[in-house]
Amino acid sequence: MKYCRFMFEGKTHYGALEERGGELWIVDLAAAPEEDMAFRLEHGRATSWSFDFEPLPLSAAELLPPATPSKIVCVGRNYREHARELGNEEPVEPLIFFKPPSSLLAPGGAVRLPKLSERVDFEGELAMVIGRRARKLKSDANWRETVRGFTLANDISARDLQKKDLQWTRAKGFDTFCPLGPVVSDELVLEAGVALETRLNGELRQHGSTADFIFPIPALLSFITAAFTLEPGDLVLTGTPAGVGPLKPGDRVEVSAAGLGVLVNTVECDPD
Ligand code: ZN
Repeated sequence: MKYCRFMFEGKTHYGALEERGGELWIVDLAAAPEEDMAFRLEHGRATSWSFDFEPLPLSAAELLPPATPSKIVCVGRNYREHARELGNEEPVEPLIFFKPPSSLLAPGGAVRLPKLSERVDFEGELAMVIGRRARKLKSDANWRETVRGFTLANDISARDLQKKDLQWTRAKGFDTFCPLGPVVSDELVLEAGVALETRLNGELRQHGSTADFIFPIPALLSFITAAFTLEPGDLVLTGTPAGVGPLKPGDRVEVSAAGLGVLVNTVECDPD
């Protein structure tokens, strides 16, 4: 199952995706992803639409971030080489922090570099989309019952503020600092390791595999839900591989993984 979220006739919809001729097409307006409360609030109890939908190539759609989280939980230093490149010890337990939902940015949108920072980095990441409410999960629980699917994210980070502030809230939380998308898929086979790549202006800068996670998904979910409840639509960003680097106005940054497409964003100065 693959889906996106997009604007259609002035309203937000989820779109069911199908591959046709090597390209993804939106073939139907999807029923709400199960238990996505924000979606239900928006559309009442409807689970299907009564009018015919003409298929549309994904590339022609006005895409939105494909989740509406109540919170975005991020994992720092979950790849050994990235921990080392910033001069940090390998953690003995997951290091987690939040990004606010107001930081979400649609595929194709522009990351705005704030005047408050002189060094803003890209961090390509694999993101989990939560499908059902979860609290106090055991590490041997079947995590696939909790995770609706995967998508791509870019954990944009004001590195200078991250060092200066005791908390990372500002450094990680500016508007546009969480590009997300373009699609959600439940078809990834993580057991074999999923290759995650980040390109800056076409040049490969990050190349990692989920097989290199310090903390695998069950350990992350157990650690996180021991502290607080994850709700449907919430996101867990699973950390970034080595190779992070700074962005400048005019850059184009792409995060990609097989089966999830490419999350493309541009970069500009925040005019305010
Ligand atoms: Zn990160």
